[in-house]
Order: sequence, then C-alpha cells, then structure tokens
Amino acid sequence: MILQEALYEGNHFDLRVYLESKSDTKDEIEQLKKRAEKGAFRCPYCDETLIVKSGDIREEHFAHRHSKSCEVNCSCFYY
Ligand SMILES: [Zn+2]
Repeated sequence: MILQEALYEGNHFDLRVYLESKSDTKDEIEQLKKRAEKGAFRCPYCDETLIVKSGDIREEHFAHRHSKSCEVNCSCFYY
C-alpha cells in the first residue's frame, strides 16, 4: 500500500492532488521533504510523523518515520 494522504496542519493533504496542481514537481517535492523533516506531516491513521519519499520506480509517497506501516490501524479505512 502506498500512502499518499497525510495530515498537514490539521488538514487533509493528498500528495498526488497537490503535485498535479504544480508545474515544477521536483522543486515541490524538495520543499515537501524539508517540511516533512520538521514533522509537518502526520499519518491520518496512527498520527505518526511521516516523511516524503520519491524515486524512479515508485511515485512520490509518504512513509512512516519509525514503523514500516500502520495497516492494522488503517484496515478500517479500506473496506
Ligand atoms: Zn500510520
């Protein structure tokens, strides 16, 4: 499961929707990574701090800083 949602300053934040609205996504991703390192993004399911990951194979996504996933907590959100 690739996590693309987070809580940013208490609001729902969708990474894909956000980047689609930007022309320079590479620059945006760098900005998001810096914000994430300061703890700006939180998991909407387990409230853990999230980091931004991007690579050639996988599209940009959020990852938990400590645990690998919170699928146990998330399960009720995916029927
Ligand atoms: Zn989580």
